[in-house]
Amino acid sequence: MVKPLVIVSKGADPYSTTKMALKRFPLPDLKNKRILIKPNAARLASPGDGITTHPTVVSATIDYLREKGAKDIVIGEGCIFGVDAREAFRMTGMKEISEKKDVKLIDLDRLGPAEWTIPHGKLLKKVKVSSILKDFDWVVSIPVMKTHMHTRVTLSIKNMKGLLWRREKAKLHHLRSNERITRGYKELDFGIAEMATVLMPDFAVIDGTVGMEGMGPAYGKPKEMGIVLVSDSPLSADAVASRLMGFAPEEIPYLRLSAERGLGEIQLQNISVEPQDYLKWEDPFEPPPTKFSIPFPDVVVYDKGSCSACLSTLLLFLQKYHQQLDDYRLIDKKVHIGIGKYLDFCPDGTVLVGNCTSKIKKKGIFIKGCPPISSEIMRTLDSRKQRGSII
Ligand code: SF4
Repeated sequence: MVKPLVIVSKGADPYSTTKMALKRFPLPDLKNKRILIKPNAARLASPGDGITTHPTVVSATIDYLREKGAKDIVIGEGCIFGVDAREAFRMTGMKEISEKKDVKLIDLDRLGPAEWTIPHGKLLKKVKVSSILKDFDWVVSIPVMKTHMHTRVTLSIKNMKGLLWRREKAKLHHLRSNERITRGYKELDFGIAEMATVLMPDFAVIDGTVGMEGMGPAYGKPKEMGIVLVSDSPLSADAVASRLMGFAPEEIPYLRLSAERGLGEIQLQNISVEPQDYLKWEDPFEPPPTKFSIPFPDVVVYDKGSCSACLSTLLLFLQKYHQQLDDYRLIDKKVHIGIGKYLDFCPDGTVLVGNCTSKIKKKGIFIKGCPPISSEIMRTLDSRKQRGSII
C-alpha cells in the first residue's frame, strides 16, 4: 500500500519555506479547478501573533498554485461569533493579500447555508455549511500550528470548523451523548471527527512559522518554529505536525477518532515524511492547561463544559472591563462568573455567561448569547444595575 506523503520544510522566511514545501509535493492537475483556500483568519489578531495564519504562507500558496496552472482561487473564512469579518480580514493581512494577488476574499457567513448529511453520524447527523462550498473542486486548509485548551491541538482538520455556517460553529459544543456512543471521548472530539467525514480538506498547508503553545487557540504564547508542512492527506499532516509539537498523534482524541473512521493514517511508521530525519525539528510545545486559569485573583470562575468561544470571550471581557465590575462583587469581595453546559452550581449573584447557563439563570445575572460578545456582557450588567436588579 502506498504510504501518505507529508513534506516538511524549515526556514527563516515564511514565503520561501512554504514554496519549498509545495515544490517538493507532487500536486494533481489543477487546471480548471475551482480552489478554496481556507486560512485561519477568524479572530482579530496580527500576523506573527501565532493566532491566525501568516498571510505570507497564503500568498506563497496562491503563487505556487497559479504556477501549476490554477486560475480560479478564492480565500474564504467564517469568523468566530462576535468577530467582525471585515476587521479580522484587515488585521490578519488577508485583505491585503487578496488585493495584491487579485484573489476574491469571502466572508463565508454572509452567504446562505446548505445542509449536509453526515453519513453514519452518531452524534452529528447533519451540518449547515456555507452554500458556496459546493462550487469548489479543491479545498486547501491552511491552519496555524497551535495548542487548544479543549482538543490539545488545532490543525488542518479542526480548521475546517470555520466552514460551518454562522452559529453552527457552536453546535459541536452542544452535543450531548451517552457513554455507549462516545466510549469516554469528549463530545467535541467526537463531533470534529464526524464533521471531518464531510469537511475533509483536499490539501493541507500547515503554517508552523509561528505557532502557539500553552493556552491556545488564542491566549497562549507565540512559538517560533519556522516550519511548514504540506500533504494531500490532511490527517497524516496533522499527525506529523502533532509529533513535531511534542504530542503523540494517537493521544489526540479527535485524530484517533478520525483515523478510526478511515479518514487517514496517523501511525507515523505508516506515513512517508520528507525529509526522513524531520524529527530533528521537533520542538515540544507547552501543553494546554488541563484546568483553565484566569489571571485575575479577584475573579472566581465556575466552568463546567464550556467551549473555547466562551472562554475567549470571558478573557476578552475581563481584560477590557475588569475595572468596572465592583458592583458585582459578592460577599467575599470577588466577582463570580459561571460558564459551560454542565454548570449546575454557583453562588447566588454569579454572572452567568452564555446560553449554556440558562438553566440556572435564576441564580444570578444571566447574559444570553452563544457566546455573548464582551461589550454585550457589560451592557447587560449595566442595564441590570440601572434597573436596580443586582442581587
Ligand atoms: S454558550 Fe458559550 S459555552 Fe455554551 S456553546 Fe455557546 S459559546 Fe460554547
